[in-house]
Amino acid sequence: MITTDISIVIPLFNEEESIPELISWIETVLSKHPFVYDIILVDDGSTDNSWKIIQTLSQDIPRIIAIRFRSNSGKSAALHAGFQVASGDVVITMDADLQDSPEEIPALYKMIQENNFDMVSGWKKMRHDPLNKTIPSKLFNSVTRMVSGIKLHDFNCGLKAYKQDVIKSIDLYGEMHRYIPVIVKKIGFTKIGEKIVQHQSRKYGVTKFGMERFLYGFLDLLSITFVSRFRKSPMHFFGSFGIFFFLLGFGITFWILFEKIYCTFFIQANPTHIIIRRDVVNNTSFYIGLTSIIIGVQLFLAGFVAEMITTLGNQKNNYVIKEKIQP
Ligand code: UDP
Ligand code: MG
Repeated sequence: MITTDISIVIPLFNEEESIPELISWIETVLSKHPFVYDIILVDDGSTDNSWKIIQTLSQDIPRIIAIRFRSNSGKSAALHAGFQVASGDVVITMDADLQDSPEEIPALYKMIQENNFDMVSGWKKMRHDPLNKTIPSKLFNSVTRMVSGIKLHDFNCGLKAYKQDVIKSIDLYGEMHRYIPVIVKKIGFTKIGEKIVQHQSRKYGVTKFGMERFLYGFLDLLSITFVSRFRKSPMHFFGSFGIFFFLLGFGITFWILFEKIYCTFFIQANPTHIIIRRDVVNNTSFYIGLTSIIIGVQLFLAGFVAEMITTLGNQKNNYVIKEKIQP
């Protein structure tokens, strides 16, 4: 049986002009090498002619495997679907918009196979994108570097290479494609390399990510660092805070009650003594105590619910495949 050396996974959404050029570029580059490879195109619910073009191309080029989503489900979902069918020893991902260069594929392959990297991430050192993208991206990369401890310059580069094992072990959803190196390191593949890659400005079409990418990006970074830490036992996180607030509230309430009872008995025993009696509801601590108990109970409940969800397993991806082309 012939094994596949490289699977190239390409997520795409409305990239009709770029697809034919990209495929012929890949074919030209790889025809100079002896690799057995396939090209996995994942059409993430395009509304233009992308799928028609893919169908036509796949009739001439049998190494094209294509998956079509019913609706736009996101780049992470598209990568996830592509990874499911990828059989190459080395799996390479790249964007469909001609910004990533297929010329990098042979060197990336070599780094995985010969230098034994688990994953190699591209670094668009000379980047051809507008400033409103490159500046926030610098910030984003330095935060991710700090949080994850992984020394990469460009976490979100579309051009990456992986050992087959690695892609079969990761579960991408949401906007997690920005943090694949973080996820890969978390599950124990630690040999992560970087390669400076060529980058072009977008030739056709427009970027598919607006400014919301930064907000969602940071929220996802929180999820990754938080979820991966407490996923197995959310109760450890919620429960500890829950206990703290509950005990605080309980202590305060107990004190108020004690004070109330003490005052009542004291006055009964010494009717001539003047002491200031406060109603419980006029006591600020009463409200702090009450709120603390409520917060404590809420956190406990959140912990319980999270525990139940983790026991039920995680079905986070909800893309629906409409069509598949497989040789
Ligand atoms: N993409 C996708 N689904 C989406 C958005 C983007 O499959 O919902 C693809 C897109 O077609 C391209 C790649 O992801 O192949 C990167 O997108 P884009 O070039 O718009 O991102 P940028 O280069 O602006 O970061
Ligand atoms: Mg792009």
